[in-house]
Amino acid sequence: MATHTTKMLIIGSGPAGYSAAIYAARAMLEPIVVQGLQPGGQLTITTDVENYPGFRDVVQGPWLMEEMRSQAEHVGTRMIWDTIVSVDLESGSPFRALGDSGDEYIADCLVICTGAQAKWLGAPGEMALGGKGVSACATCDGFFYRGKRVAVIGGGNTAVEEALYLTNHSDNVTLIHRRDSLRAEKILQERLFANPKITVLWNKGVGSFEAGENGMLHHLALTDTVTGEASTLEVDGAFVAIGHAPATELFKGKLPMDESGYLLTEPGTPKTAIPGVFAAGDVTDHVYRQAVTAAGMGCMAALDGERYLAARAHAVQEAEAAE
Ligand SMILES: Cc1cc2nc3c(=O)[nH]c(=O)nc-3n(C[C@H](O)[C@H](O)[C@H](O)COP(=O)(O)OP(=O)(O)OC[C@H]3O[C@@H](n4cnc5c(N)ncnc54)[C@H](O)[C@@H]3O)c2cc1C
Repeated sequence: MATHTTKMLIIGSGPAGYSAAIYAARAMLEPIVVQGLQPGGQLTITTDVENYPGFRDVVQGPWLMEEMRSQAEHVGTRMIWDTIVSVDLESGSPFRALGDSGDEYIADCLVICTGAQAKWLGAPGEMALGGKGVSACATCDGFFYRGKRVAVIGGGNTAVEEALYLTNHSDNVTLIHRRDSLRAEKILQERLFANPKITVLWNKGVGSFEAGENGMLHHLALTDTVTGEASTLEVDGAFVAIGHAPATELFKGKLPMDESGYLLTEPGTPKTAIPGVFAAGDVTDHVYRQAVTAAGMGCMAALDGERYLAARAHAVQEAEAAE
């Protein structure tokens, strides 16, 4: 068991964490990134990424994250494969965190980039067909289904927004919901019902995602939640939109969160309620949830962290001079 001391501890290794690390390392803060159980974050479980700036052609998610990791290491970041299991924020800076390995981390400032995970139905075929017709992000993958038949599964705001977004690409969008009414806001529902490209299938649960001979999604096996009647729906793409879970368990009771568990920050900044603790990426963003926005917030957190440390050092110097 070891103790690691750093000016900036970055928890999480998705686009937010790696971008924060690149900026912090180049500011000579010698950051440590604790990578967590999913080094590289959510993009490591997808294939084609076509909307991250800088690449004319489609790139693969795991490759993109490997490049970000290499870049962060190249400029001086220390990567540690560990998972933070507890943090002490109460006593202020330096902050202390404990890793699953038993290692302790002591940091002058903290950048939280623990991301979020899409919730899945847990139905057969769902995971196996990920990237082969099944997705949890219409903004990310809708473009790949231009002119094709797509379904969205869910009944809340996200599901309705995803269905509406998909009508930019497809004239054949089916929203599948297991109840007979939606939870989404009224204004969204009005837009949904007024859109001729969208059909709603009420009272239907998705039992499984079935592949065709080519190994791609072919149809959904449905069950009527009222009558129990079985049916199928042939689709090229299915978007599971039943919500996301931010990875904030660690910070419960320690940092302000919204009712869904997203960390709250000062509007337009990555600053949390505790000076020296910053949050960036999907852990604080339930609206955009993109790699590029997470990377942008990671950059902002590192820059604000650097300013926080500089102001603190300046205050100490002034106090010493006054003695
Ligand atoms: C299937 C899929 C496809 C997608 N496709 C696209 C796309 O094409 N384009 C796009 O822009 N976006 C896409 N996204 C969204 C994009 O992946 C996310 O917006 C982005 O990864 C968020 O980055 P992040 O750094 O905030 O968090 P994440 O990528 O979620 O990373 C979180 C990190 O935190 C770590 N972590 C969590 N808890 C701890 C802990 N206790 N201790 C240490 N580490 C911890 C994890 O190991 C992980 O490394 C896709 C998402 C999914 C699920």
